[in-house]
Order: sequence, then structure tokens, then C-alpha cells
Amino acid sequence: MTKSTHPWLADRTAAFDSSGIRRVFDLAATLKDPINLSIGQPDFDVPDPVKQACIAAINSGKNSYSQTQGIAPLRDKLQSQLDAQYGHADRKVFVTSGTSGGLVLSMFAMVNPGDEVIFFDPFFVMYPPLIKLVGGVPVPIDTYPDFKIDIQKVADAITPRTKMILLNSPGNPTGVIATEQEQRELAALAAERGIALVSDEIYSRFCYADRFISPAEFNDQTIVIDGFSKSHAMTGWRVGFVHGPTEVVETMTKLQQYSFVCAPQPAQWAALEAIDVDVDDYRQQYQGKRDRIIDALKDDYEIEVPGGAFYIFPKVPWGTGTSFVEAAIAAGLLIIPGGIFSGRDTHFRISYAASDQTIDRGIEVLKQLARSGPKA
Ligand code: PMP
Repeated sequence: MTKSTHPWLADRTAAFDSSGIRRVFDLAATLKDPINLSIGQPDFDVPDPVKQACIAAINSGKNSYSQTQGIAPLRDKLQSQLDAQYGHADRKVFVTSGTSGGLVLSMFAMVNPGDEVIFFDPFFVMYPPLIKLVGGVPVPIDTYPDFKIDIQKVADAITPRTKMILLNSPGNPTGVIATEQEQRELAALAAERGIALVSDEIYSRFCYADRFISPAEFNDQTIVIDGFSKSHAMTGWRVGFVHGPTEVVETMTKLQQYSFVCAPQPAQWAALEAIDVDVDDYRQQYQGKRDRIIDALKDDYEIEVPGGAFYIFPKVPWGTGTSFVEAAIAAGLLIIPGGIFSGRDTHFRISYAASDQTIDRGIEVLKQLARSGPKA
């Protein structure tokens, strides 16, 4: 951890650092034609009707602030979908500045200094820093080697200071989907113990074998965070949404008023269009890419076959996650060491949101690396 040295920097900025991932990107910057399997976003472009909706919004002057909670047509459409899906008496939606915006606001709205937040290791990189930013205490629960949720471990980690359980399924970086039973048990445990259950569902559109399952089906107080970044390749447009109990949502909206203000208005009109754009073709393509990469690597790597998202998280065949990834980068392949997403430095993340040709080049390098072993 780096200690802030500049006298103006607040103490909270020293509670976490970004040196790990920066080191990877510094190494990557030295490559001429890298085989890039490190990117956490779809490789398809924003669907054309979504682009057109954004352009039309801009051209018709919808360029000002929107209401803090988001444009009414988008909220109404999301709300009617949620009502049909869950039928909860008290479930309200608002529009955020990306899923990240929703995550930030959920921390500020619910976590007091000293409160503990349970989440599962491996985890999305933002979780520990965000928890620390609000003075919370990160409580990671180890899920190696199969990335399954052991409900007993969760129950054992609960203390009087536990405020929140944060679930991400399908997960980044593993791609693993929590089973219906795991989600039922987690939902029941959170309800029984009066703990907020926050579900990051950004990869909900990328489920392969089975339907997507949300813990909100089993716990009507679940706070769901979702967005359009991954489903419609709109990562730069910053539109997400949160739904949950009215009072929590209204408090988060109040905080948004004094921070993000609103999601970009033209992008909200585009999101309204995106709801009607079918991305099933992309889902099928990604399922094919997953199978391609798993088939090619399964003899050389220990891999938990994931059911969703566009990541796999194999165990390194030798060395640490860091030393293995350094060797991969030296061979022209960009992947991310597992220690970025975990207390363990034993795995690495591959994103297969890439062309088949890039995937095949990556597979070649990975097979060679597994067979050659560490260089003396
Ligand atoms: N949650 C997870 C699990 C993610 O992987 C990401 C993006 N990498 C986000 C949230 C943030 O997405 P957004 O672009 O909507 O802020």
C-alpha cells in the first residue's frame, strides 16, 4: 500500500492503491501488437438503433440535465419490467451513472464507518476500495477452488457490525454463476439477520446454460445494481440503474443529486431504445467463444467452467499469478493476474470478448507457456 505523501491528500486516499493493475498496463504499453485478452468489455459495437437514438436525442436538444432519478420514460419502462418480474410491493427503480455509480451510492447510503461488508473472493476490483472509501471494513470470503458459495462460511463471518452482503453473479473475474440454491440460502440468511443484500447484476444478459437468477426472487428487500455497459457495449455512455426498497432508493437518489447529478441525458434515451434491442446473438457468440477456449485449454490448465459473463479464471500451471502473467506479456499476450481480484496470487483472468482469431493466438501462447514451464 502506498502512503500519501502530498500534504493535501486525505487519509482515505491511502487506504487502497492501484499499483497492481498499473504495473500490468505499464508492461503492456511496451508491446507492439499485443494479443489482448484483458479487456472487460464486449468486443461488439453499440447496436445501431441505440446509436441512432442517442444521435436523435442530441439533435432534438435533449442535452440538459435530466431529473436526478432519470428520464421518466426509461424509469417507467424499467419499473414495469420489474413489477412484472418480481411483483414486489415495495420495489422502486432509478437511473444511475453506470453500475459503478450505483455501487458508489449504495456504499454511501448504507455503510457507516466501521460497518462490515461481506463479499466473495475473487471479487470485482472496485469492491474493497469502495468499501474502504466510506470507512467500511471489507470481509472477503474465500471461494477457491470452485468459486461456490459456502453458506456456512458466510454465516460464520457475520458479526453485529455486518451491514451488507455483496453478490456478483455471473461474476467478474470468474464468470461463475451462483446456483439457485446458493442464492436462496444467501437471500434467506440476509433476511433472517437483517443484513442488506446488494446484487451486482451487470452480466445478467450473459448467462449460457441456465436462465439468469437474481437473489431478489427470494428476498424482496434485495438492492439490485444493473446497467447497459456490458449488455449493449455502452461502457463509455455511463447508464446504469438500481432497484430496491423505496426508502433506500430515494436516499441513493438524494446522494446522486449532490454527486453524479444524473446519468448523461442523451445516453438515457439510448438506453430506452436498448431495452428493445435483442442481444441474444451476442450471448450465443460468447457461449461459442467460451467453449472454444475451454476446449483448447482444458488439458493444460485447471479451469472451473463458467456459466456466464465473458471471463475464465484458470489456475496458473507454474509460478505465481504475477510471474506467470509477466511471462505471458513478454510473449505478447495480455491477461490479468488473479491477485488484482483476490487475496490469492494463483490464477489469471482471460476475457474472451475478442475475435476468434485473437482468441486462437492467445490459446497458442498459453499452451506454449504451460508446456515450457518457467524460464530459468
Ligand atoms: N460490476 C462489475 C462486476 C463489473 O465487472 C463492472 C465493469 N467492469 C462494473 C460493475 C461497472 O460497470 P459500469 O460500466 O456500468 O460502471
